[in-house]
Amino acid sequence: MTLTVGSGTQFARHLPVVGSYRAQLWREARMISLRRLQADECPDDERRVTQGFLARSCGPALLAYLDTIHRARTASLTRFATEVIAQWLPCEAVLAMRSQGRDGACLLCRSGAQESAEHAICQCPHPAPARARALAVAAGMAILERPRSPNTELDSRQALDLGPGMLIPAWFDPSGTHAIRVCPQVPQAALAALRGHPPLAGFLGILPSDLDEVLVWEYGTDGLWRRRTLSDTQELMAAVQGELVWGGLRVWSARCNALRRWWRTDAAKDVRMGVVERASQRAYARALRQMVRRAAQTGPSTHEHNLRVKPRQFDPGTFISTTLAEEAAAETAFRMSPQPPPPPCY
Ligand SMILES: [Zn+2]
Repeated sequence: MTLTVGSGTQFARHLPVVGSYRAQLWREARMISLRRLQADECPDDERRVTQGFLARSCGPALLAYLDTIHRARTASLTRFATEVIAQWLPCEAVLAMRSQGRDGACLLCRSGAQESAEHAICQCPHPAPARARALAVAAGMAILERPRSPNTELDSRQALDLGPGMLIPAWFDPSGTHAIRVCPQVPQAALAALRGHPPLAGFLGILPSDLDEVLVWEYGTDGLWRRRTLSDTQELMAAVQGELVWGGLRVWSARCNALRRWWRTDAAKDVRMGVVERASQRAYARALRQMVRRAAQTGPSTHEHNLRVKPRQFDPGTFISTTLAEEAAAETAFRMSPQPPPPPCY
């Protein structure tokens, strides 16, 4: 059977269905949503605040991450994941884009760096998020290095003497201080995927592609390599991911609590005044531009309400300027000029 999905959109195509068509439609709808998010381009890609960055970098691994979030059935975790994968956590860089009189710089570490989602979760050196980040990374490493309980069946597997392998940075450690041991027989493509995995995605619990090729090898205390079974490998990956998805939320909660305490200190007074001042300047400039635009479009009006809120004698050809200071000076000059008496109201 063949169905046509997404008819009338850019995703329209014929879909061969084998087995349950509802399950096939559900999978196709997920892929359509993923491709739509991947297509979200933005020229500001260098700051990594685009909504499609994680979708383009991780691909279907993002859907597996969302499945894990869904199974947790926790409202706070779902909301955090929804906002962070779209790079829309209410950090300073996002608030600055919403034009609330902010410059986007991190208020906690005061390093001058833009506080994007990656900075808040992976990079901010403030003690509160840094401590939560270190705990999450340590929990992930503890799962990977957990000693295996003695098992005669597992110990009887074929042990290979392939040498100690090599140590590469753990994909979920943004600081790069923790390393995992990799078997020499791991394909180079899997190693490249591990090294090129975005730090934010790794810390959130979005697993690199081909991670099973790495974790399928177990380095024993006897210096020999053994292959895990498929179920053991999947179980290990699920355990690491299950720990990391909570780590991201804990770091964000620590950041928000620290910022909430910071706003009550004296150090926040100047920043608060600056935010209020810039917001009022923008609101004033916006109102002035609207006033000039209305006067240019409508001209003198006889309606009583319009006469109260619009300058009847304001000549936009004379007073339109390009800077806020010039607009303010123009408005002052206009107000100081003699005004004609108001017309009678009928
Ligand atoms: Zn910071």
